[in-house]
Amino acid sequence: MTPDNDTHPASIEYLVLRDGRAIEIVHLGEGREAPGAPSSARDAEIACAAADLAHCAACGSTLVQPVEWEEEGPRHWRLELRCPNCEARGTVVVEDAVVDRYDLALEQAAAALARQLHDIVQLGIEDEVRSLSVALETGLLVPEDF
Ligand SMILES: [Zn+2]
Repeated sequence: MTPDNDTHPASIEYLVLRDGRAIEIVHLGEGREAPGAPSSARDAEIACAAADLAHCAACGSTLVQPVEWEEEGPRHWRLELRCPNCEARGTVVVEDAVVDRYDLALEQAAAALARQLHDIVQLGIEDEVRSLSVALETGLLVPEDF
């Protein structure tokens, strides 16, 4: 669940809290862009950092999900992440913009899942109607069965 530092210029700071937990703070290099630099570079950086949150460094899954969200100061969030594939867990602290993008990606993924569920249910209903129709047409089901 460690952001890949080779694909974008973000820097990562590792801290160990008093309770012994280790956290990562992802800095996106704010202010390192040249004045007048296109915001698309910053957007790409944010998108890359958000995508990294969904990537599991342990098993390569891209389905890492947050199990806890908590504000960490005025501009950061602390996320407890869990990989559903290998059960790896980790804590990261990221900027608001990254969390916003990650939240959007999670919402889009949830909407895609809901659409797939709808399609599967619809296919199941259509299959049941087809089976019932065949049963009625072939006399396997008669009104007395009801
Ligand atoms: Zn994993």
